[in-house]
Amino acid sequence: MIAIPPPGENGHAPTEELTTGGDPLEYISVSRLKAFLGCRLRFYFEKVIAVTRPQSPNLHYGHAIHAGIQHFNKARWRGGDASETAVIAAYQKAFDHPEKGAKIAWETPEEEATQRAEGEPLLKAFLASELLAPESKPAGVELKLRAELPSLALPLLGIIDLVKADHVPVAYTTIGKTPNLSLETWLHEIQLTAYTLLVEDATGEKSPANELVFLVKTKTPKVIAHRVPAPNQVQRDRFARLVETYANGVANEDYYPSPGMQCGWCDFRNECSAWKGGPG
Ligand code: SF4
Repeated sequence: MIAIPPPGENGHAPTEELTTGGDPLEYISVSRLKAFLGCRLRFYFEKVIAVTRPQSPNLHYGHAIHAGIQHFNKARWRGGDASETAVIAAYQKAFDHPEKGAKIAWETPEEEATQRAEGEPLLKAFLASELLAPESKPAGVELKLRAELPSLALPLLGIIDLVKADHVPVAYTTIGKTPNLSLETWLHEIQLTAYTLLVEDATGEKSPANELVFLVKTKTPKVIAHRVPAPNQVQRDRFARLVETYANGVANEDYYPSPGMQCGWCDFRNECSAWKGGPG
């Protein structure tokens, strides 16, 4: 079992505040950092003043799939019903109850029914995957960790999907097509580096590797596990520099637009077009 002190000791505290907005300089998380680096003005709308928007169907679907996997891993970890029936039930329940009561931007009732139906075969593929055959009990599931590291300008907070018995952090991703593993490893660098730093701080040991698990929503669903080496010193230094950039940018309220491909799926285009050169 991973040696994580109880809440309040040695800087490891629950991180419920990860999802509630709040002071952007209180801590850094993967979602805050990636949002800030993607577009600072969008980050301001979404994370600083927390303008609410209906949740995208894909995001909602991903959360529901995650709930099914979480149920499975927790049942393995603590003992419980890890059966296919129980996992599917956890998925259906999450599908029926969006996070924080969010409204889902379904275009039609048919879209909702189609999306819901796609979850069951994907979770069955996950449960049948030999790649994920659970030989040993996980060290932790949905671990909420906080680390105050000298190298980082802000405390680091994170919730890790799964930490395997050998202290390898695992991140699950639902994806619509067979992933380009090299590209996905690149795109997940911030997340995997943060996971490594959190687990190493909690255990006092070097993390041997990371693992990305893709649940691929193709016609015949499949699951692909991809082991990634633990971040090297260059990646760790780069992460620290990005956190510093975040801390300075937020302290200076440098919230400006970054027009690009991401505008195609941005929910804040109206607010963005009214931007006159400063926050607020
Ligand atoms: S529309 Fe584009 S530039 Fe404007 S906030 Fe959204 S992502 Fe940023």
